[in-house]
Amino acid sequence: MNVTIDRMACVSCGACWNTCPELFDQNHCDSLSEVVEEYRFNGDRAEGVAPDCLCCCAQEAADLCPVHIIRII
Ligand code: SF4
Repeated sequence: MNVTIDRMACVSCGACWNTCPELFDQNHCDSLSEVVEEYRFNGDRAEGVAPDCLCCCAQEAADLCPVHIIRII
């Protein structure tokens, strides 16, 4: 499963990291959502590759995002 976050459009509502903390976290510098370090693709905070067992919570987070910037592929 691939996940991307359009970080610059994040409004830091917290829905993603509260719903799926295994995959999302709040960056401590800019307060925006990011992919947790373990699952980052090429070290990119906005892009990740995660195991399918996280698919449900990732999709739930994407559905809850008020600005629809999380993409699960
Ligand atoms: S749910 Fe969306 S807007 Fe809210 S913190 Fe996560 S990425 Fe940002």
